[in-house]
Amino acid sequence: MSVDPKQFFYIHALSNAVEHDNVPKAGAVLGLLMGKHPEFRSRAKEMSGILNEVLQEIEDMTPAGRREKLSELAPELLDQKKEKKTRERGLRELKNVGDNGVVMRFAPNPSGPLHIGHARAAYLNDYYVRQYGGRYVLRIEDTDPKRVEPENYGMILEDIEWLGLKITDVVYQSDRLDIYYSHCEKLLESGNAYVCTCDSAAFKTMKDNKKPCPCRDQTTEENMSLWEKMLDGTFPEGAATVRVKTGIDLPDPAMRDFSIFRIVETPHFRTDARVYPMMNFSVVIDDYLLGITHVVRGKDHIANTRRQGFIYDYLGWKQPEFYHYGRMSIGGLVLSTSAIKEGIRTGQYSGWDDIRLGTLRAIARRGIQAEAVRNSMIDIGIGQTDIVFSWENLFAENKQIVDPVANRYFFVTNPVKCSIKGAPSVTAKAFLHPNDESRGCRALDFNGKLYAPGDEIRDVSMVRFKDLFNVKIGNEGEKPSFEYSGDSLEDARKEKSPIIQWLPEHGHIKCTLMTPEGKTEGICEETVCNEKDRVVQFERVGFARIDSVSDSGIVAYFAHR
Ligand code: GLU
Repeated sequence: MSVDPKQFFYIHALSNAVEHDNVPKAGAVLGLLMGKHPEFRSRAKEMSGILNEVLQEIEDMTPAGRREKLSELAPELLDQKKEKKTRERGLRELKNVGDNGVVMRFAPNPSGPLHIGHARAAYLNDYYVRQYGGRYVLRIEDTDPKRVEPENYGMILEDIEWLGLKITDVVYQSDRLDIYYSHCEKLLESGNAYVCTCDSAAFKTMKDNKKPCPCRDQTTEENMSLWEKMLDGTFPEGAATVRVKTGIDLPDPAMRDFSIFRIVETPHFRTDARVYPMMNFSVVIDDYLLGITHVVRGKDHIANTRRQGFIYDYLGWKQPEFYHYGRMSIGGLVLSTSAIKEGIRTGQYSGWDDIRLGTLRAIARRGIQAEAVRNSMIDIGIGQTDIVFSWENLFAENKQIVDPVANRYFFVTNPVKCSIKGAPSVTAKAFLHPNDESRGCRALDFNGKLYAPGDEIRDVSMVRFKDLFNVKIGNEGEKPSFEYSGDSLEDARKEKSPIIQWLPEHGHIKCTLMTPEGKTEGICEETVCNEKDRVVQFERVGFARIDSVSDSGIVAYFAHR
């Protein structure tokens, strides 16, 4: 029987990785293939290439990802016990962790509040600080005055608090400009950087043709004097930049003599500086001086890691351990800071926490718990494979958290007042939570009339009003008529009658349910007024956070079903 070696490698390496939480050695897996299928012995080199690729992929998968892939390929190999073991959430170990644990950082730019994409770096780094102990630095990367707004600082701090990160230190790059300047001077003095006064388009043409610009040969004295002129305001914005000498003939043009300082004349509300480091420079200086041991960041920074390598080398510093996780595309909600800003300005969005946005504050407003975001991000892990973020997974995580806690209530859309003929006056008792009777009941009074959901009493001959009684629906002329038809749940089931929500004639309140698709108007139980800021479940509608309560009614933010 012919065998697909790639599939064979996957199955054996994955089952090993799932069972022992460790990717097996290539030799062992290769030996297994050759032993079982000697026909591959003559193609050992080719096989080994395939195997290495497979092992690398498995190395980058999360425990959950490995289990899922194995269950696709060979479900029979996943016995119950193994499954239980690997279900525990966790990320792979970091290399070179010292006795004092790790120092990690989360480094957002204050161009807006945090969104769901930021949560990945935030939680992955947080995970390791909790795992190994050590320090977790929040570094506000605010060295681009054009992308810095005062209100964003406070919002980021609020978001961090909501996420529940174990932050131990907070630093602002705008406080550290002198440190960056002094290290820039070191590079200028050692001849590893120069001040370039070329027009940027002209420099690009030279660089793309592997030609050094005339500034590259300036003496240290010349460079220092030009640097002074950058600092003292002699040069206007765009007239000079500091470049690190990486090599003008490097194969990758993006690595050739890139810029590390520039002049920006836009005022910065935290400093009166006009010379700012570029990200690659300030990140190196800070990562090193703050003692960062491990950096977990996105694959989009891989080229930056390579650029930063030159600066580390020139300063004689050792780099931290880098891990680059794959891209995560996020559909469904709006994330782009500029689009959100514009939308807020024009009134399209009500603010940074508008329900259509993917900001953390919008997600929180809907009743998504930070813990659910954390669980989703740890499950996604630090693998290099590009993925699409699944809102469904986040909602499932959130449901696990809120379902046992959220009280249940009735919510009725398109309410229609119905008189029920022949029905006794009763007070219906409905549990606040079906699995926790100790929480007690809601009391819903029925005195002959109730509100039913208009769309659900059409085209049916009988319904059961939940926790109340059965009603036959007939037609009196054009108008439907409602007649009491006993209390028996059995009968309702036999008749396959829909079991629907209702609200008492008195004791309900107007309720607007905000969803990303738009508003749903309805009414809900009056006691929902006691649930402000909590998540409730509107039965058969879904979970929602009670956002505001006023005389004009309740506004609830829909989370998920
Ligand atoms: N401030 C950078 C960003 O938000 C992070 C820099 C880094 O991770 O090195 O993309």
